[in-house]
Amino acid sequence: MKAAVVSSTQPGKLDIIEKELRPLKAGEALVDIEYCGVCHTDLHVAKGDFGAVPGRIPGHEGVGIVKEVAPDVTSIKVGDRVSVAWFFEGCGTCEYCLTGNETFCRNVKNAGFTVDGAMAEQCIVTADYAVKVPEGLDPAQASSITCAGVTCYKAIKVADIKPGQWIAIYGCGGLGNLAIQYAKNVFNAKVIAIDISDDKLALAKEIGADLTVNPLTDGDAGKWIQEQVGGAHSAVVTAVSKVAFNQAVNSVRAMGKVVAVGLPPETMDLEIVKTVLDGVQVVGSLVGTRKDLEEAFQFGAEGKVVPIVQTRCLHEANDIFQEMEEGKIQGRMVIDMHKH
Ligand SMILES: [Zn+2]
Ligand SMILES: [Zn+2]
Repeated sequence: MKAAVVSSTQPGKLDIIEKELRPLKAGEALVDIEYCGVCHTDLHVAKGDFGAVPGRIPGHEGVGIVKEVAPDVTSIKVGDRVSVAWFFEGCGTCEYCLTGNETFCRNVKNAGFTVDGAMAEQCIVTADYAVKVPEGLDPAQASSITCAGVTCYKAIKVADIKPGQWIAIYGCGGLGNLAIQYAKNVFNAKVIAIDISDDKLALAKEIGADLTVNPLTDGDAGKWIQEQVGGAHSAVVTAVSKVAFNQAVNSVRAMGKVVAVGLPPETMDLEIVKTVLDGVQVVGSLVGTRKDLEEAFQFGAEGKVVPIVQTRCLHEANDIFQEMEEGKIQGRMVIDMHKH
């Protein structure tokens, strides 16, 4: 089969090669990949930012059809459409796995990093961890929900937002545009979108943001939000920017919650006095569990959330990385494995 692998000679690049998959072991299934979205995390993996993995097949926004299952598999069957997500497998027995927090399992496996992922014509998955894609959900759009969508959906769950409350979404790119849709159409919140790009803010408005603010022209977003609505009830930060994190803390009202999703390699300033006197909570949120993904898919199938995707072919993978680094991408680039 054809596969993209992390290059062993050119850091940050992928090589397209022919690769033979091993036979299935107990509990596994073979999936014919239809689509695989390209995520910033894949770029980090290719660059070796989480540790060098030459030869690894990246890709954790995979969607495909089950072609074969090991004899003991009962959770999925041949012909089912399933996902290949960053949360590839947990140990199933630790305190995190047993309490609905499986993404924090200390022995977690991640598709496209610790095990081969979905940027290939086929992928071997652990059957019980492959989440079914519901009928009526476009598979290219589903690939985007597998990572970006579920990450946003989970973050808003963690934000604990109630209908009619204000939520500030920092960053309106690949994650943020989905966060706005989930916040608005699933949680019935009022949404303030924050970005330094007017194009992205225009898109945010189009997909339902009630208010938009550009810190470059409107000044500190935290101050602006305090003045406009008396502070947000919660904030979700998808922007990869320390400034955004600091403004997010200042944008919430007393007892507000700031949910960290973006990963700038820095520390944020957290004013202790405000944190104590206003009872502010700051919490991280990491992808989503199998149950979260099932729910996030269902809202996609119901048309409440529509990912913006564009299909490309496998040999364009390095071009997509390049466009990503140049910040040229609106929505998500998705590799169509049948497109040549
Ligand atoms: Zn991803
Ligand atoms: Zn575990």
